[in-house]
Amino acid sequence: MKFGTKVIHAGIEPDPQTGAVMTPIYQTSTYAQEAPGKHKGYEYARTHNPTRSALEKNLTALENGQDAICFASGLAAMDAILKLLKPGDEIIASNDLYGGSYRLIKTVFEPYGIKAHFIDLNQPENIKKYLKKRKTKLVWLETPTNPMLNIIDIKAICKIVKATADILICVDNTFSSPYLQNPLDLGADMVCHSATKYLGGHSDVIMGAVVVKTQELADQLHYLQNAVGAVPGPQDCFLVLRGIKTLHLRVERACKNAFKIAKYLKKHPKIGQVNYPGFKEHPNHKVAKAQMRDFGAMISFDIKGGNHTDALKILSSTHLFILAESLGGVESLIGHPASMTHASIPRKERLKVGLTDSLIRLSVGIEDVDDLIKDLELALRNV
Ligand SMILES: *Cc1c(COP(=O)(O)O)cnc(C)c1O
Repeated sequence: MKFGTKVIHAGIEPDPQTGAVMTPIYQTSTYAQEAPGKHKGYEYARTHNPTRSALEKNLTALENGQDAICFASGLAAMDAILKLLKPGDEIIASNDLYGGSYRLIKTVFEPYGIKAHFIDLNQPENIKKYLKKRKTKLVWLETPTNPMLNIIDIKAICKIVKATADILICVDNTFSSPYLQNPLDLGADMVCHSATKYLGGHSDVIMGAVVVKTQELADQLHYLQNAVGAVPGPQDCFLVLRGIKTLHLRVERACKNAFKIAKYLKKHPKIGQVNYPGFKEHPNHKVAKAQMRDFGAMISFDIKGGNHTDALKILSSTHLFILAESLGGVESLIGHPASMTHASIPRKERLKVGLTDSLIRLSVGIEDVDDLIKDLELALRNV
């Protein structure tokens, strides 16, 4: 099946009981047994739920994996992956991660004896000097990165890592969504998603998922899903299933809008650097072109001269671009990473990757692009 068919059909069967075409919301915590241990494969809803199973099958198909495991949030999904590690193990992660991912590794897992190296992976070779035999257990990549929109060459990193040792590679694919990029096809072992973003797509649900390449990883993560219990509810699974049905249409339109907006911003006299992987002069444009179907709908930009006050003025004067955390919804959002999504990262660390106090991030939605540009134009007149 091609992508546009998978989003609608993969893993989705009409309900065997009634023929309902859309997956029902199985709002139950437990299931009747005929005799002790004699049941239809469902015992208790932390362990199994048919709405959740349908979503997991669908996600497996979208990322070309072996299985998928859903969690109550993107960070709960990441937490389960990090629980595959033991004290003394080391992680190598790209250095401009989602703020919450950085915080989870740094403040929750480091105290348990897991060491992390946050490094610049724009040049894949940089990883070599951090790879340690028997110590490095996980490589964590996010691409495009947040909020600098750097592109990491997934294939090149996987090649280096897999040649060195048996190390797991996970890609946080939230920013791309499975429509733009499939890391398992490029050599990764796991893909992590905040389904809250493009998969759900309507800013009405918090959820996470991991898609894995092997049965062994599927078994380990399903074990943690049940043993730890950070599972999503059936209604949320339904919402994400519904969101996914238009994923390809939404992301396609959002990417088109974003490219036009990025070009508009680049020409604007009050704007400094515009970060967007679709530009030929983006340092890893070629890699983006090779590993992504399109360049995504996230843009970040600086005000010329790095004026923090002007940035704040713009942030509070758009009308269509809503000032809010998050991304990947049908509506356009504007944000200030330094004080919002990335406030949990120390300022010194932020500045190292170019995340200045005047950096603005856009999540471009699927509205009419002319209206979106007019909205930015009016806000820019204020500075
Ligand atoms: C939002 C986000 C997360 C965290 O997901 P939640 O669903 O909010 O827990 C992780 N990674 C990236 C890239 C994100 O944007």
